[in-house]
Amino acid sequence: MRIGVAGINGRVGGLLLDEIRLRGDTLAGGLDRPGAGRAAPAPDVTMMASIEALASASDVVVDFTVAGTVPAHAEAIAHYRVAWVLGTTGLSDVAREAVARAARHAPVVQAANFSAGVALVLELAARAAAALPADQYDAEIVEMHHRQKLDAPSGTALAIGEAVATARGVRLSDVRECGRDGVTGARADGAIGFASLRGGQIVGEHTLLFTSADEQVVLSHRAFDRRTFAAGAIRAAHWTAGRAPGLYGMRDVLGLT
Ligand code: NAD
Repeated sequence: MRIGVAGINGRVGGLLLDEIRLRGDTLAGGLDRPGAGRAAPAPDVTMMASIEALASASDVVVDFTVAGTVPAHAEAIAHYRVAWVLGTTGLSDVAREAVARAARHAPVVQAANFSAGVALVLELAARAAAALPADQYDAEIVEMHHRQKLDAPSGTALAIGEAVATARGVRLSDVRECGRDGVTGARADGAIGFASLRGGQIVGEHTLLFTSADEQVVLSHRAFDRRTFAAGAIRAAHWTAGRAPGLYGMRDVLGLT
C-alpha cells in the first residue's frame, strides 16, 4: 500500500512518517504548504507539488493539514478515487459537504481524534447521555490544548458533544453553549457547554461531566503523545484497503459498530 502524507512537515505529519517507517510501509510522497513548507523532512522523501500529484501517486492519502485545504483535497480524492484518512479539524460546513461528496467516490475515514481511547470515550459518552436525563444532568465538556492550536472548541470536544446530543435526540447546534462571559443568565435546560483552555504544549485533554443536584459522572481522556494519533491514522489507512466508497470513522476501523 502506497501511503501519501499531506502536512508531512507538521507536528502530526512527522510522526506519520515515523510510523510508516516503523511498520515498513511504502511512503508514496509528502505534501506541505507552498514555499518554505515544501522542503523534504528527510533526503529520501519525495515532495509533491500538488494534492493532485500526491493523490495520483498514492493508494491512500493521510491528511493532517489546515481546514482551508479540505475542499481542494476532497476534489482530488474524488477525481483519483484514492482512499483518504482525514485528521484535519475545524472544518466549515462547505468543507464538510466536500468531504461527503468525496466519500461517494472513495473510502474516507474522518475522525477528529484517531486515538483508540477517544473512540472508546465517544461510545461511553453516548451510553452515559442515554442513561442520564438531560433535564437532570447538565453536560459540560472541558478541553485543554497547546498554545498553537487554531480552532476552539477542539474537534474532539465537538465530537463528544455530538455523541451526547445524538443520544439525547437533539441537534448539537441547537443546544451548544461556548465561551460564557459576562452576565450570561442561568444555564438553559439541556444545554451542552464547552470550555476551551490553551497553554504550553498540552497534546490534548478532554473531560465530559454530567452534573445533577446529587451526583457527578466524569469521563476523561488525556493524550500524552501525538504518536497515538499517528498510529491510529496509519491503522485507518490500512483498513481502507479494498473498502467500498463511503464516509467512515474510527468506530468502523476499531470494529465498535
Ligand atoms: P501543524 O501546524 O503542526 O501541521 C500542519 C501542517 O500542514 C504544517 O506543516 C503546514 O505547513 C501544512 N500545511 C499548511 N497549509 C498547507 C497546504 N495548503 N497544503 C499542504 N500542507 C499545508 O498542525 P498539527 O498539530 O500537525 O495538526 C494538523 C491538523 O490535524 C489540525 O487541524 C489539528 O487540529 C488536527 N489534529 C487532528 C488529530 C486527530 O487525531 N484527528 C490529532 C491532532 C491534530
